Amino acid sequence: MSELLTADRINEIGNLGFESPDPAALVAELVGAVDEGRVADPDDTGYALLVAVDILEQAGDLADALALATRAVAEQPDDNAYARGVRGGLLLRLGRTDEGMAELTALRPLLETDPDSMYLIDELAESGHSDTALEWLTGALDAILERTRTQQHASEDAQDEAAAMIYGLAQQRHDLREEQGLPHDEYDNLADRLRAASDHALDALDDGPATLLFWPQTEFTALLLRWPTLADSYPATWDEHRAQIERALVDASAMGGADLGVAVGTVADLAAFADSEGSDPTDEETQDEYADSLTGPDLRAWPPGRNDACWCGSGTKYKKCCLPRSRG
Ligand SMILES: [Zn+2]
Ligand SMILES: [Zn+2]
Repeated sequence: MSELLTADRINEIGNLGFESPDPAALVAELVGAVDEGRVADPDDTGYALLVAVDILEQAGDLADALALATRAVAEQPDDNAYARGVRGGLLLRLGRTDEGMAELTALRPLLETDPDSMYLIDELAESGHSDTALEWLTGALDAILERTRTQQHASEDAQDEAAAMIYGLAQQRHDLREEQGLPHDEYDNLADRLRAASDHALDALDDGPATLLFWPQTEFTALLLRWPTLADSYPATWDEHRAQIERALVDASAMGGADLGVAVGTVADLAAFADSEGSDPTDEETQDEYADSLTGPDLRAWPPGRNDACWCGSGTKYKKCCLPRSRG
C-alpha cells in the first residue's frame, strides 16, 4: 500500500466510520498514511487523524483516541483549536477533569468570536458537564450583547458577525436547556424569535443567494449523466457538492445571513421546469430560477440543530456529517 490518501478518501472513511464492518482497518489506513507521509495534501494530516479519533471514540477506545488527538494537536500547531477541543473532551470522558477543563477553558474565548466554535459546547455537554456548557453559552451571549450595546460605531461586518454569533449561541443554549428540561428564560425567548424570523424569511424567500440548489446523492449522479456538460460547473463527487454547499452557507451565515437554506432539486423537475420556461436546463440562470420556484418540503432550513438529522439527507446527525465537512 503506497498510494496517496486523498481528502475524498478521508471523507469517505469519515462517512463509513464505525458503521463499517472493520473500523480498525479504517483507523489503520488513516494512521498508516500519516506515519508514512502519504497524505496527499499535508494540510489534511490533522483531519485524517481526527477522523481516526472519531472512529476510535465511537468504538469506546478513548485512550487510543486521546493519543491520536494529542498527535493531531501537534501536527497543526497554527490551526489546532478544533483538535484541542476534541482532546479536551476526551480527557473529560477519561475522568481527567482538571486537564480537560484546562484545555477547553483556553479555547473558551472563541465562543465570542468564532461561529464554528460550538464543538466546545458539545464536548462539555457530552462528557457530563452541561452546567458548565450552559454557563459558557450564557457568558458569551452576555459579552456579545454588551459589546453591541457599547460599541456604537462598529462596522457593518462586525455587526453582522455579532448577529450570526448571537443566533448560533442562542439556538445552542435553547436546545441544551430544553434537553435539561429547563423552562424558557429571556434568552430562550430570543432564540425562538430569531428562529421564527429565520423560518419566516425562508418561506417568503423569492430570490437571492440565501437558498442554494442541492442535489441528493442519486439525483446528483443522474444530473451529470443526463447533462454531462454540467461536469464543468459541479464538483466531481457528491461529497464535494455537499461540502461546497455547507461552506457557502457557513460563509453566508458569517456575513449575517439568517434566512439560509437549501432547495432540494430533482432531475425530472428541473427538466420539466426548463421545458415549461423554454430555457436550457444546464444554464446557471435556469437552475437559479428553478431553485427559487421550489417551495414547502423542497426547502430545508439551515443550519439544522447539531444533533438533528443533517440537511443533506444522509440520516446522520448534522454535527457528524456536513458540519465537520465544511472544515475539511
Ligand atoms: Zn423554545
Ligand atoms: Zn450531511
